[in-house]
Amino acid sequence: MARVYNFSAGPAVLPLEVLEQARDEMLDWRGSGMSVMEMSHRGKEFTAIAEQAEADLRELLAVPAEYRVLFLQGGASSQFAAIPMNLLRGKTKADYLNTGTWSKKAIAEAKRYCTVNVAASAEDRKFTYAPAQDALQLDPDAAYLHYTPNETIHGVEFDYIPDAGDVPLVADLSSAILSRPIDVNRYALIYAGAQKNVGPAGLTLVIVRDDLLGQCLPATPTMFDYRTHAGDGSMYNTPPTYAWYLAGLVFQWLKKRGGLAAMAETNGRKASKLYAAIDASGLYANPVTVANRSWMNVPFTLADAELDAPFLAQAKANGLVALKGHRSVGGMRASIYNSMPEAGVDALIAFMAEFERTNG
Ligand SMILES: *Cc1c(COP(=O)(O)O)cnc(C)c1O
Repeated sequence: MARVYNFSAGPAVLPLEVLEQARDEMLDWRGSGMSVMEMSHRGKEFTAIAEQAEADLRELLAVPAEYRVLFLQGGASSQFAAIPMNLLRGKTKADYLNTGTWSKKAIAEAKRYCTVNVAASAEDRKFTYAPAQDALQLDPDAAYLHYTPNETIHGVEFDYIPDAGDVPLVADLSSAILSRPIDVNRYALIYAGAQKNVGPAGLTLVIVRDDLLGQCLPATPTMFDYRTHAGDGSMYNTPPTYAWYLAGLVFQWLKKRGGLAAMAETNGRKASKLYAAIDASGLYANPVTVANRSWMNVPFTLADAELDAPFLAQAKANGLVALKGHRSVGGMRASIYNSMPEAGVDALIAFMAEFERTNG
């Protein structure tokens, strides 16, 4: 069996140990005589799996008791609509920070439900930085402030948590959740599609403070009302059971490795050495302001775009795959989530140096 180093932005690499465990338990989950895929979501086996996963996630992120953790479907993109539906609570305006493709999509969707105030935009410099706190034109009457702590496509990560005063703060953490410890108390709501840094596609996590529930827009579909899921342990209808189980295995894997403080140490080291290699080279470049460079998604260009195709082909021949950048940005992108071993980053750096030596 040949496993490659997979730098895909999502769905992305999962820990080998997790996949092996899932394989071993595939046909018979712990003496149940069936696969987790075949279990009733209301049976005692799956209930145990679900509760363990939630407890482990709460422990990893130190989620306070007054927050609900929801295991949903629909992707982060469904949350772009669910957030205004649930959080406007009689108000008509919301603040958004525009820092890249995902912020733009969240803004476009929110505009269907309310007046969006773009409190800051990094579009003036092609989304290569995160606006500073003192540049935010915040509206004290906004129902909430939405931002994207890590922009997956542009490789831009906030180096601070915006202070919105009493206005609830909402974060799309799809590509950075679990990459380092965070202070959940600073947020009213955190959401993330699972397929970047949590588990397989099909699961969406929402962590929301209790007091924000129960005031959604009148026409909100039952499935988009957070209360529906919060009151029912995310079991109002059939949840994405197998993705939930696999995410639970990832949470166990993270705990065994020392939790998020340990992940932060490894992730910081992986990112620094890759950026250092890019900065030291004459062939590769990354345009993002140093303080805002993402730990998870590292875009870079080659000095001559003609070299893109041979770079990708030779990388693939060396077992380094999915390095092509997003079509909107071009060049390359190495996504180096929790599950990307440090050895994979080392292999990429060595390959990049060798490619530069022979083609630069
Ligand atoms: C991938 C991504 C999304 C979209 O997620 P889906 O689950 O595909 O809807 C939204 N926001 C960010 C920051 C992402 O990285």
